[in-house]
Amino acid sequence: MKIGILELLAGRLNPVSPGQYLDHFFARKQYASVMPQAISAWCRQMGHVTFYATYYGLGDPKNRLPPDLDLVFICTHSFSAPLAYGLARAYQREGTLTVIGGPHAKSYPQDCLRYFDLVVLECDQTLIADIVGGQFDPPAVISSPRPLAELPSIAERLPEIRTATFLKGKPFPGSFIPLLTSLGCPYTCDFCSDWNSPYRSLSPHRLKADLQFIAQNLPGVKLAIFDPNFGVRFDEVMGVFESIPPNRRSPYVIESSLSLLNPERIKRLHRTRCAAMMPGVESWSAYSHKAGVGRAILWRKLEGVVEQFYLLKDYIPYLGVNFILGLDLDAGDEPFELTREFMYRTPFVWPSINIPMAFGGTPLFDTLLAGGRILNAMPFTFYTIPYLTVILKNYDPLTYFQKMVDLYALLASPGWLTQRLASMSYGLGKAVHCLRTLAARSRLQLMRTMVEQLQTDAHFYAFHAGQTDVLPHFYAVIYTRQLGPYIELVPLAESRPVLDGTPEILM
Ligand code: SF4
Repeated sequence: MKIGILELLAGRLNPVSPGQYLDHFFARKQYASVMPQAISAWCRQMGHVTFYATYYGLGDPKNRLPPDLDLVFICTHSFSAPLAYGLARAYQREGTLTVIGGPHAKSYPQDCLRYFDLVVLECDQTLIADIVGGQFDPPAVISSPRPLAELPSIAERLPEIRTATFLKGKPFPGSFIPLLTSLGCPYTCDFCSDWNSPYRSLSPHRLKADLQFIAQNLPGVKLAIFDPNFGVRFDEVMGVFESIPPNRRSPYVIESSLSLLNPERIKRLHRTRCAAMMPGVESWSAYSHKAGVGRAILWRKLEGVVEQFYLLKDYIPYLGVNFILGLDLDAGDEPFELTREFMYRTPFVWPSINIPMAFGGTPLFDTLLAGGRILNAMPFTFYTIPYLTVILKNYDPLTYFQKMVDLYALLASPGWLTQRLASMSYGLGKAVHCLRTLAARSRLQLMRTMVEQLQTDAHFYAFHAGQTDVLPHFYAVIYTRQLGPYIELVPLAESRPVLDGTPEILM
């Protein structure tokens, strides 16, 4: 069979600014995940002709794969789901069997069924063999009943890695090889799709073989470790990293909870060449346990978190942190003031400041759906920063966006960029700061437009207040423009997501 595997890392950028072009070509492109590469490798091992590609927002995604495919797997987040739906319709017209997997399929399988033949929740090699072998009659939602036990090695995924992250077949300083050492997480953050996914580590033998392969064949190429929470079994996984001789270790990037770290562990991360780390602090009012500050909240949490980042500063060259502002426990100016204070005190940390979003399958989604607080008519295109898709408990939309604009104005300011660049010596980290500042400026611009809309367009305000579910013209224009030629296949009239309902799942 001729099988295509396409991972959508972005929606269609239309128009695309020079800053966005650079950001997507050099940074977004590096977000390619492991599972689509694994599917491609498994299909190849079964003797099929496979075509693997990623799409990061530039040009027509359909051109990334050849025509006349028998089967296409598409992996996507929710913000690029309408594009995935358009692609599914285009492929179905050509007689191609369409399969969707990834975060969006897991969150909204009932919506995906409107467009795709098969919707995959949990995936493994056996399930892929069954799909390719025609074991499932479409339309169907399918899932592997087994916990994922193993993935193809780096050597087996090398053709896909070359396609996704190298330039002209060769690694460049911005190349990252995606890797997983574990799945799931022991924490239960209510907004996170991994809240109920039990932690399990993958084979340390395969990890060791992968690290040895990279040391020998791709020396110095960085690893993007996509574990939801790296280092839960810290000693076990560090032991594997330490088994590679110091002069042959590759730099790597992780997401980990501050609670898993202590001075000795930070030194081990440093010795094994951890180059970047992005812990989630999330809120100043909650999730304190995983931030390693016990039950401290607000200003006491700030003190504890700042202290932890100063411990990390001397050992990890690039540090980021994730915040979500506007969750139900947030009220007034304090969460914004605390974030601003954190930024002033730790200019060496990049803060990703996010807007609450309720993804299907999470407790937050259930709470907001039951409370009528999800904007039902908002297309999935807008399930990404800087858009607001829910009704916040303690902020009206205008006040909220005004506060976000104030923070983003600081985040994107030239003065702050200068200060940040001066606070670090890591060359690639400086380049990342520049790209992130450009991205923050685009978001700031959009947020300012939304403030203006909220101030001048009564319908726009009413939509965000939950008083009407007629999609404002502002969003209709962006939706239509982003889809470009695919709008005929996924017209605006179909853009309202199916958020509820539990489909039958075949195993
Ligand atoms: S610690 Fe991170 S990965 Fe784990 S549930 Fe919370 S947000 Fe998700």
